[in-house]
Amino acid sequence: MGLLDRQFNNSNVIITSMENLLNWARLSSLWQMQFGLACCAIEMMAAAASHYDFDRFGVIPRATPRQSDVMIVAGTVTLKMASRIKRLYDQMSEPRYVVSMGSCSNCGGPYWEHGYHVLKGVDRVIPVDVYVPGCPPRPEALMEGIIKLQEKIRRESLVKKSA
Ligand code: SF4
Repeated sequence: MGLLDRQFNNSNVIITSMENLLNWARLSSLWQMQFGLACCAIEMMAAAASHYDFDRFGVIPRATPRQSDVMIVAGTVTLKMASRIKRLYDQMSEPRYVVSMGSCSNCGGPYWEHGYHVLKGVDRVIPVDVYVPGCPPRPEALMEGIIKLQEKIRRESLVKKSA
């Protein structure tokens, strides 16, 4: 009888690629940068509270950009805040992701036409992975946005493609 006979007969053996394993680990532990800008942030906080319990998705707030994987831009991005958001984004390590939550962050929202002090979309200063529509979006909508981001990470290739 060989040394390895019957060693792999039980159902606890899982075979996968390293890429799938790493993507699964990353999408299951999306640490969120802890900051909010306006009313949308209240819905974001509700998503983190016990009823919706974002922790079960692995979305846990961190108080520093250096330990954060995802920035949820929740609220009105004023021109004054835009440069701060860019600086915080630059301090996050790769791979990093951005969820734009709510109309203000997506496109300027109610301030689109006359809000001279509001950026018309946070994607003018940082790249956005997922847009969550609404004014404000409910916690369920943010949850769907996070699930969309997880689907995106699941499909990511760890090998950089040459241009
Ligand atoms: S999208 Fe609506 S709820 Fe969200 S920050 Fe703007 S005005 Fe407030």
